Amino acid sequence: MRRQSMRVVLAQPRGFCAGVVRAIDIVERSIEKFGAPVYVRHEIVHNRTVVTDLERKGARFVDELDQIPDGAVTIFSAHGVPRAVVDGARARGLPVLDATCPLVSKVHSQSRRYVAQGRTLILIGHAGHPEVEGTLGQVDAPVRVVSTVADVEALDLHRDTPVAYVTQTTLSVDETRGVIASLKARFDDLAGPNLSDICYATQFRQQAVRVLCESVEVLLVVGAANSSNSNRLREIGVELGVPSYLIADATALDPAWVRDAKVVGLTAGASAPEAVVLQVIDALRRLGEVEVTQMDGIEETVSFRLPPELRQTEDEPGGVA
Ligand code: SF4
Repeated sequence: MRRQSMRVVLAQPRGFCAGVVRAIDIVERSIEKFGAPVYVRHEIVHNRTVVTDLERKGARFVDELDQIPDGAVTIFSAHGVPRAVVDGARARGLPVLDATCPLVSKVHSQSRRYVAQGRTLILIGHAGHPEVEGTLGQVDAPVRVVSTVADVEALDLHRDTPVAYVTQTTLSVDETRGVIASLKARFDDLAGPNLSDICYATQFRQQAVRVLCESVEVLLVVGAANSSNSNRLREIGVELGVPSYLIADATALDPAWVRDAKVVGLTAGASAPEAVVLQVIDALRRLGEVEVTQMDGIEETVSFRLPPELRQTEDEPGGVA
């Protein structure tokens, strides 16, 4: 039986952030300029559709530098890398293009600055995530990784230890606020950037989902299972009492989720292409009549400069905003 008509409300903003656009551009332009294959350490961004498309164009994705042949063009992913990887590539004389998001690089320099000040560094983030591994590997000192208030309480540090914190860029704004508050209560001499390490794209997509969830019955988040910012979007929906599902692509959509819904919210993580959002809308249309609208929201204008060797003109593409 055909389902009743459905309204699909698109989140604004959603999908690609400036760091992801830059990283994909770096891979595509490297292939154009230097020829295929180019080697990318780690998935350039956490999205299978993006990775498959770049593989088709001539990118090879590897886990470690020793899988890259001598002399091959080498690209570091948007999540950033430990210093040992940079040094290893330099020692082998590999031609490197660094697609680390400038907002992640900012966290790397903050971390080094705090350690140089003699502070014990606390990294708020999810252990094992490549961005966290990259930041840990940027400093020559032990770093404590915490992700919850309980982790902060369990830290084996004295109250008067000079400490500083930085955060992963794609965390939940609300949860991180709580963790920072517990650090402030736990330590007398604490330095840190407040919430500003959580990047603009993460913050704006989370704000949009909060607004969207006031008026939808189901939330669909397009994003990969290993995408941190996409998972946080789904969790916000759940926290607000809206049944919320993370889907890698249209094939993952279960018609039962939306069978009784009149209004469905649709968003996408910062590494999810708009083409997949459109495929999900097509899949919903195959279930019945669909009207698509977009919520009012922030128009993002951020863009990041490409490495000099890949710019086609001196001032392209607009500079770091
Ligand atoms: Fe950069 Fe934020 Fe995008 Fe990560 S999510 S690539 S930190 S802009």
